[in-house]
Amino acid sequence: SVGHHEVIATALRVDASGITVLIVADRSGTIRSFDDADVTLLTTLAVHATVVLRNVNLVDSLRAESERNEELATHDPLTGLPNRTLIHAELQSQLDLGERLAVMLIDLDRFKEVNDTLGHQNGDLLLIEAGERMSQTVGPGDMIARLGGDEFAVLVRSVTTESDLIALAEAIQQSLCRTYELAEAEIEIGASVGVSIATDDSSDAATMLRQADVAMYAAKQDRLGVEFYTAARDKHSRERLMLVAQLRTAIEGHQLEMHYQPLVALQTGIVTGAEALVRWPRQGAPTVMPDEFIYVAENTGLIRPLTQLVLRTCVAQAATWQNQGRALRLSLNLSPRNLLEANLAAQIADLLRHAGVPPRLIQLEMTESTVMSDPAATIGILRKLRSTGVGLAIDDFGTGHSSLAYLTTLPATELKIDKSFVSAMLTDPASRTVVRSIIDLGRNLGLEVLAEGIETEAQLDALREMGCHLGQGYLFSRPVPIAQFDRWLAAHPSVAAAPPLMDAIR
Ligand code: C2E
Ligand code: CA
Ligand code: CA
Repeated sequence: SVGHHEVIATALRVDASGITVLIVADRSGTIRSFDDADVTLLTTLAVHATVVLRNVNLVDSLRAESERNEELATHDPLTGLPNRTLIHAELQSQLDLGERLAVMLIDLDRFKEVNDTLGHQNGDLLLIEAGERMSQTVGPGDMIARLGGDEFAVLVRSVTTESDLIALAEAIQQSLCRTYELAEAEIEIGASVGVSIATDDSSDAATMLRQADVAMYAAKQDRLGVEFYTAARDKHSRERLMLVAQLRTAIEGHQLEMHYQPLVALQTGIVTGAEALVRWPRQGAPTVMPDEFIYVAENTGLIRPLTQLVLRTCVAQAATWQNQGRALRLSLNLSPRNLLEANLAAQIADLLRHAGVPPRLIQLEMTESTVMSDPAATIGILRKLRSTGVGLAIDDFGTGHSSLAYLTTLPATELKIDKSFVSAMLTDPASRTVVRSIIDLGRNLGLEVLAEGIETEAQLDALREMGCHLGQGYLFSRPVPIAQFDRWLAAHPSVAAAPPLMDAIR
């Protein structure tokens, strides 16, 4: 009821010019002109109505915006998949309901290469396609999320038995490994999947995601494709992850240090060079020895920057000695993985040229098992390295299984008798025979022979008598930092500049 008019019908509409029009009729159906009071009343009404309308519009647009924001806050804009926040919340609410479920964490292998070589746009396309492939593989109740970068997660509700989970994880893994057609090229990448199954003590989302991450990391390391979480692996991998992170920091901060151990010509006692052995000094903790961290570096890709650091340090040290009038040869260790670096030989040649160090003053050591694991493949790489002029030593010789046929064609320059034979040779006739055979073999092949791990005068005498060229061991010196090594050197005869090395040996 409006004033003394009983309003029976009102219609409200907004005309094209945005003016709100109010039409009023009363019971008697008479339409009469409004008096002043009516006009005031109606104007007030109209204003109110306009305000209401505006508010409705405002509420609509606010709602749309907040939906957009929510989409952004819970979804990955590139793939349109749920993001970490959403899957985390969903996982938690399912766990709270006591659901038995599993989480998979998926990480693409070699995705970075695609990005680097084909550009980010193609990288994006690959991620979108990867998301689609996974969506087609999982069950209807499962949720796929992109956690960031090339990392995805799946919340699995469709299957619960371990064998079904394995089948699903493998199906996902294989779907991701199929060829991608991008930039008119056929791209292949790998994927590693870690699976964590909800148990009584993994009742929170963060724990489950972390456990799946641990399993995924193990899958990647062992190149298994799919791996399930186990508590034992967790402890191991947490320590390992910490070690990896610290080692990376140490390498980047050039905190690794070289120790030098003299190599001595056994017949003359002249020092011909040194082996560089890496050390990882840590503040407030004992220095870490290479046996404890080289394998970590080898399994994580850190071996490449580590070897770079060692190589640069050694070339610089060789240059320093050369400038001091000492032609000492520096021998350094390579890991199997280093041999796969396509440009290693060219890079070494470059470093030597820049430092003005003659290549014969650097020697690369690789173990017999490294060389002999795939000699046909290795031989080409070794030839390339040898063609730069650096020496090549086969380390820990006698412990692997050398094929004599290959040994004669290898471009090696030195055999290093493994220290286990040297330390046993005076008490164990078989070891003595091995030592003698290697010395003879080396002489017959025209290779230098070095005996490692000489600790006693008696061992030294025996080796000298057998005609071994070179030796290394605690009897002469332990591996020591450069300042200490230089002091030791000053007290011992060493090769002067530009020495004919064979003269020092004989
Ligand atoms: P390796 O190449 O066989 O090095 C010789 C090892 O024997 C060194 O251990 C050295 O300290 C030790 N040694 C030397 N003389 C004696 C001796 O008279 N008696 C005994 N018992 N031991 C002796 P270290 O420095 O702990 O190095 C262990 C291994 O770590 C090396 O074995 C090598 O395989 C690896 N390594 C060391 N530095 C590097 C590096 O810069 N890069 C790579 N890839 N591996 C390295
Ligand atoms: Ca060595
Ligand atoms: Ca050795």
